[in-house]
Amino acid sequence: MDFEAFFKSELDSLHNEGRYRVFADLERHRGSFPRATRHTPDGPKEVTVWCSNDYLGMGQHPAVIDAMKEAIDHCGAGAGGTRNISGTTHYHVRLEQELADLHGKESSLVFTSGYISNWATLGTLGQKIPGLIIFSDALNHASMIEGIRYAKCERVIWKHNDLNDLEAKLAAADPNAPKLIAFESVYSMDGDIAPIKEICDLADKYGAMTYLDEVHAVGMYGPRGGGIAEREGLMDRLTIIEGTLGKAFGVMGGYIAASAALCDFIRSYASGFIFTTALPPTLAAGAIASIRHLKASPFERVRHQERVKKLRTLLDACGIPHIPNPSHIVPVMVGDAAKCKWISDIMLDSYDIYVQPINYPTVPRKTERLRITPTPLHSDADLEHLVGSLHQLWARCALARAVA
Ligand SMILES: *Cc1c(COP(=O)(O)O)cnc(C)c1O
Repeated sequence: MDFEAFFKSELDSLHNEGRYRVFADLERHRGSFPRATRHTPDGPKEVTVWCSNDYLGMGQHPAVIDAMKEAIDHCGAGAGGTRNISGTTHYHVRLEQELADLHGKESSLVFTSGYISNWATLGTLGQKIPGLIIFSDALNHASMIEGIRYAKCERVIWKHNDLNDLEAKLAAADPNAPKLIAFESVYSMDGDIAPIKEICDLADKYGAMTYLDEVHAVGMYGPRGGGIAEREGLMDRLTIIEGTLGKAFGVMGGYIAASAALCDFIRSYASGFIFTTALPPTLAAGAIASIRHLKASPFERVRHQERVKKLRTLLDACGIPHIPNPSHIVPVMVGDAAKCKWISDIMLDSYDIYVQPINYPTVPRKTERLRITPTPLHSDADLEHLVGSLHQLWARCALARAVA
């Protein structure tokens, strides 16, 4: 087989469908987020980032950076091994205490990423619990889907956020089979929020465990940044809360928070936890500082929500259509793959605004969009420049406006 020709023809098909992914080559600067330098063939340019998942700008917060510097000066670069073999440092132990406290759980377990925490936890539960059926929301993240696939247990997909469909499927399953309901709080692409309480009620009724991915909510919602479940007083009703250290907390890593026995079980059986080098202590130190800061400081959360509201108001004033959801994610709808890519390219090249186009297969065709994520660090002038640019491009592209 001509392997090179195979790779190239697969890539060609992505190009032909307009789905080939191009990375922006960025350099972030401490102290000037959301500004970044973009490296182009014509040299460096300054851009404003409008699609970062560093939702609160914690990736450059002085408390986080100082903690990371102190850790590297104190104990060096890497962890030096897997958690089991010499890689558990005091920073990891303290981070797990911090996370258990954040979610009001007995225990927590840190992984190298949110992806791995979903994959390893769901995979291990599905493999080890005899006859487990996992009820998975249709819009769950790829990492949950892959974990469930790896588990090779029975899985039932229920319609996104649809309680009637979930209940019908729970009722149709063997009443004696162990069950787990896996879902997210804030969904990344539409920014909608699951009915967590009602899902927990169904879980109680049918004797199911609950698994909630709060990746797009931790740090940002709840009085201490514990997520939507904290805001709604529901943390104790969830069997497992999963989160990331890489989005609002601004660093990297993933975790679950749950009972001591459940965390110990995953620690002891999950291949994706056991056989990989622990996070560097610097990252654990940065995460501890970030979580602690956000537990005590509502300032970033309040300012974040205010910025989101302001952006929506400006978009509405010039009829730029966006999904009216209850979260901080602002999906501006284009509804055409080529136009979406074109607008994103022009925004970057002519307006120095970086917002990545979101096309199929991340979202369904005809719902192509710009996924805009305002942060507390975007100024009024930034917001006006963004919306002014969209206003001009909407006219050039002959795109429909929302009717007020
Ligand atoms: C980003 C994301 C993850 C993965 O988290 P990482 O820490 O980036 O690996 C998991 N779930 C959802 C819903 C996500 O959007």
